[in-house]
Amino acid sequence: MTAGPSARHAPARVKAGRLVGKIAIVTGAASGIGRATALALAREGANVLVADLHGEGAQRVAEEIAAQGGRAEAQRADVADEASVAAMVAAAVAHFGGLDVLHNNAAASDAATIGADGEITALEVAVWDRALAVNLRGPMLGCKHAIPRMLERGGGSIVNTTSISGLAGDLSRPAYGVSKAGLDMLTRYVATQYGKRGIRCNSIAPGVIATPSLEANVPREQIAIYESNTLLPRLGRAEDIAAAVVFLASEESAFITGHTLVVDGGCFAHHPTYSEFRRLSGAP
Ligand code: NAD
Repeated sequence: MTAGPSARHAPARVKAGRLVGKIAIVTGAASGIGRATALALAREGANVLVADLHGEGAQRVAEEIAAQGGRAEAQRADVADEASVAAMVAAAVAHFGGLDVLHNNAAASDAATIGADGEITALEVAVWDRALAVNLRGPMLGCKHAIPRMLERGGGSIVNTTSISGLAGDLSRPAYGVSKAGLDMLTRYVATQYGKRGIRCNSIAPGVIATPSLEANVPREQIAIYESNTLLPRLGRAEDIAAAVVFLASEESAFITGHTLVVDGGCFAHHPTYSEFRRLSGAP
């Protein structure tokens, strides 16, 4: 029987329970994409360590998960700091008994770092170093401390949040873009070094996702330009990225490793002239 139009256009149904018994850490999980991912992993049955620089925010998300019947613990963690990352991994093992999934998602999204990440000739070394420390050193430290624990359980899945900003140049945020390009390469190195031992590592490169960080840092006129360059009728949502993380964390992606999955509503699929040509043709 063929599906009728209403079935074809129904939202994709997520199969519940794809991560039952798995133990996961999500960094930057107090807000935005990390929060949505922590909730989604827990809904699939994972035990989740909700890690963030803002301990109270992490606590709130862990409570939200518990209120929905999931299992979570909160951990204050600074991913740029090795002792803090080691403590984060140790906390997941202590609370839940091991580690299977690491979502390296935290990035320096504060206005001080993002706002000062502009033209190269005016770039402060401290801004460059902060972006690289959180966005690239952080995930490396996460991998360094998580992989031994994953190997004890025969493997695991690491998912790094990168960005389409790591795939092309732009007028602003060079430190951010370079950190994300580096993280895509870290993904391939981890996949290469540990694949034979059962560890997969992939990146998700989100396009423009409506999160508190976007609202706080990007002016409305710029968001409208992103909208006109997105092929689908809306901007991304944190849940769009969370769904991709669940897929890459689960056995459904068992033969995918070393890959960067672009989740951007088609922003990077079209010719650079797309939105101006549309406007010329009078398209709404
Ligand atoms: P967000 O600001 O809503 O969340 C980021 C979280 O990371 C915050 O809770 C913050 O406290 C935490 N954090 C910051 N520094 C940290 C540190 N040193 N240690 C631990 N936690 C720290 O941002 P978001 O939009 O949800 O972004 C999440 C990820 O997605 C980031 O890696 C970002 O670069 C990436 N991304 C976002 C977009 C977008 O449009 N929102 C697009 C592409 C990529």
